[in-house]
Amino acid sequence: MHKFPTRCVHAGTMKDELKKGINSPIYTSTSFEFIDQEDTVYPRYLNTPNEKAVAEKIASLEAADNALVFSSGMAAISTVLFTFLGKDDHAVFQKGLYGGTSHFLDREFQRFGIACSIASSQKVEDLEACIQKNTKVIYIESPSNPLLSITDIQAVAEMATKRGIITVIDNTFASPVNQQPAVLGIDLVVHSATKYMGGHSDILAGAVAGKKSLMEEIYQTGLNFGGSLNAMTLSLLERSLKTIHVRVERINDNAMELAHFLDLHPKIRQVNYPGLPSHPDHEIAARQMTGFGGMLSFEVDGQDGISFQKNLQLIKPSMSLGGLETICSSPAHTSHRHLGPEGRQAEGIAEELIRLSVGIEDVEDLKADLEQALALA
Ligand SMILES: *Cc1c(COP(=O)(O)O)cnc(C)c1O
Repeated sequence: MHKFPTRCVHAGTMKDELKKGINSPIYTSTSFEFIDQEDTVYPRYLNTPNEKAVAEKIASLEAADNALVFSSGMAAISTVLFTFLGKDDHAVFQKGLYGGTSHFLDREFQRFGIACSIASSQKVEDLEACIQKNTKVIYIESPSNPLLSITDIQAVAEMATKRGIITVIDNTFASPVNQQPAVLGIDLVVHSATKYMGGHSDILAGAVAGKKSLMEEIYQTGLNFGGSLNAMTLSLLERSLKTIHVRVERINDNAMELAHFLDLHPKIRQVNYPGLPSHPDHEIAARQMTGFGGMLSFEVDGQDGISFQKNLQLIKPSMSLGGLETICSSPAHTSHRHLGPEGRQAEGIAEELIRLSVGIEDVEDLKADLEQALALA
């Protein structure tokens, strides 16, 4: 097997037999010849040439048997959960889930008769303590949003597999460049490909990669839910994935440097970044990640998130993450606004917390922008 960067560039690329172009051709057809063969090709059946090309690349990058590409991260996540959970089933989720996933559980699970428990932490003992007789799925997210807590992926995979429970991880924050959970024993790896996989803040997409037998079941449910991605966006995603290793490596370097810079700054109370030796789960992160990613968060002493963000000039307050540009957000005013002050306190989200999605700019320019904003704080 080729090394990771080579797979980013080449895995899954379609051979252009007709015109000998170097890139995968784009097939926009929704109708493909059908006379008497077994299978119909149709975009909603997740089997068009462009879907297969991208799925093959993602499976290769995640070291998984198969992958499927969807129209959003939530399409991938909801399809996976509804494939394995039905009436009277139970699932265990870790604390600190992505807001959309947590809204999905709150709103949809109860109506469909699915029970779930949110563990009191991301620790394997706390996840295990939530298991019931009807637990079918354990779902984790590492690093988590926005406090960058780390789950011991291999320990969770071993604990769940022993009990015959399916394990799912949301690997969006790490990207396959930094972390390949299938190698650590996780059954299914989901992504918001809107983030690092797409990487340019201009496409919405999702993916799941994992074990063949489970992927076949997800495929059947996927056909019914209809969350497939169109050929044009698939082609953009394929193009983005070719450079993901270069982008994420630069992002890792910039984030590490900014984390150290902020950690030493007198106006910063706390920095959450798994690459810092002071991070409580640094050892686990160093064991399971090859890079620490581009997400970090910090608390500014005595200035709430909104006013600090207004002082930044280069770094833009924006939603989402994983693009080329460094952006910031104030979780207390965005993703965790609905919790209210007490809810946020229980989750450890300070009003002064700032989350950064670090981009590929020159790190000195990023430091200078943070420095001038902090001088005003
Ligand atoms: C954005 C995000 C999602 C949801 O993905 P969409 O592409 O917006 O549907 C899921 N998990 C994580 C960690 C995310 O950041």
